[in-house]
Amino acid sequence: MGERRITKVVIVGGGTAGWMTAAALSRTMDNLSIHLVESDEIGTVGVGEATIPAIRLFNALIGIDENEFIRETGGTFKLGIQFHDWGRIGDVYMHAFGQIGRSLGMLPFQQYWLRGRNEGVAGRLGDYSLNETAGRQNRFARLPQIPNTSLDGIAYAFHFDAALYVAYLRKVAEAAGVVRTEGKIVSVRKDGERGHVEAVVLEDGTAIEGELFIDCSGFRALLIEEALETGFEDWTHWLPCDRAIAVPSENAGPARPYTQAIAHKAGWQWRIPLQHRTGNGHVFCSDFISEDEATATLLANVEGRPLAEPRTLRFRTGMRSRAWNANVVALGLASGFLEPLESTSIHLIQNGIAKLIAHFPGRDFDAANIDAYNRRIRFDYERIRDFVILHYHANQRSDSPFWVRCREMGVPETLAAKIELFRSQGQIVREGEELFVEIGWFQVLTGQNIVPCGYHPMADALTSDELAGFFDDIETIVARTASRLPFHEEYIAQHCAAGVPA
Ligand SMILES: Cc1cc2nc3c(=O)[nH]c(=O)nc-3n(C[C@H](O)[C@H](O)[C@H](O)COP(=O)(O)OP(=O)(O)OC[C@H]3O[C@@H](n4cnc5c(N)ncnc54)[C@H](O)[C@@H]3O)c2cc1C
Repeated sequence: MGERRITKVVIVGGGTAGWMTAAALSRTMDNLSIHLVESDEIGTVGVGEATIPAIRLFNALIGIDENEFIRETGGTFKLGIQFHDWGRIGDVYMHAFGQIGRSLGMLPFQQYWLRGRNEGVAGRLGDYSLNETAGRQNRFARLPQIPNTSLDGIAYAFHFDAALYVAYLRKVAEAAGVVRTEGKIVSVRKDGERGHVEAVVLEDGTAIEGELFIDCSGFRALLIEEALETGFEDWTHWLPCDRAIAVPSENAGPARPYTQAIAHKAGWQWRIPLQHRTGNGHVFCSDFISEDEATATLLANVEGRPLAEPRTLRFRTGMRSRAWNANVVALGLASGFLEPLESTSIHLIQNGIAKLIAHFPGRDFDAANIDAYNRRIRFDYERIRDFVILHYHANQRSDSPFWVRCREMGVPETLAAKIELFRSQGQIVREGEELFVEIGWFQVLTGQNIVPCGYHPMADALTSDELAGFFDDIETIVARTASRLPFHEEYIAQHCAAGVPA
């Protein structure tokens, strides 16, 4: 194996994807020389500030202290995403992380809730979620378990400043030996025989050679597409939004411990609270609304004073036909893009890195290994795609042609089957390693007003009184626990306030 072993990796790009990859490989793989090339002139996309709880695994992988990480990135805690006006105008629901209620016997909580809702004894789904109940009161603490019960505590992710996150990861990676070169790549040298990338060449003529290349060059996809012409699968017929206007603003009140996603006429707006500002953006479909109108809508719905000029980002939803081609593995925006509705892009980077480590190649770049990696990445992308489409498709809005079109469009078979099963049985089947768990799907399906015809017959095993008591007990525990948590801002001030030395 010795002579087959890869010893030199070149990462092209120093955005979130590039520096996450650099930090992870340098902290986990021995005897690897890692070189990262980035261009200050080109810069990074500069957005990407909301995450999902799996990021805590990434932090553990690279061995960073969570409080230090939050301090250095101006971060806040995230308990879920609150959706406004998605099913119908006036609707509000949350996709909260973590457990809701608890299972009883062989049945998950949601089957009892479906019965309880039919019989008028169940409250709002969110009343049985500690995350949602705490979020609504702006409260947060790290609490893995509700004391003296079998109920899980708080599940959380983070919001952070994209630029500060990159700077922080760079510090971690450089301390672990990653070598950085600043410069613009103007050409790519390939070997004539196998078509592998041999080197990237900078404006000043310097060639940086490597054995394995990681393309983190963003939407440009410098290696995977420009050099290797891998191909791109376009999903805009299912996810038609193609632009975003982003603007930061002053915080108008205490930072909420959740992201907000507010539907508008031809898209939606994010609000991401950080310690020092709020990130705002309007994701929209340019077939239905002009950039000027989208900007005006955003500015009319920003809570604090804007801190910069709004800027436009253009994108195309879809994925690279093969994320790994020859000796190039694409990560981040170079590998594909799913819009930020469920904050999954940074997760897809982390996921790609974990799978790259699992499938780390030898110099022969075994085709079976590459195929296995590509199959797994495709599966992950497609299942997340389905989940995001669900939010758009399952709407009852008739106030704009955009929402009517989303409702009437066909959806991938995998999603159609999921919706059908839910409608008929109230059931959700999570397949393989798919990212979102049953209760996540359940919150969005019911939040978007899809009502199942029935529930599992075993939920009838409880008498009506027992069922009502089951709900009351959980609601009481959740409400009492939430009310005793500190306010989110107090918790941050005590543990991880930006600008306060450790
Ligand atoms: C509107 C929007 C909102 C988003 N919100 C979220 C979110 O809330 N949560 C989430 O998880 N993700 C979000 N994302 C996605 C997230 O921003 C990206 O996944 C993440 O930032 C990774 O970007 P990247 O590193 O792949 O690309 P970039 O940030 O574009 O970095 C590309 C790098 O390549 C370098 N480069 C390019 N060409 C050359 C060259 N010729 N020579 C040298 N260097 C070069 C650049 O200098 C740069 O360093 C969002 C994306 C968009 C568009």
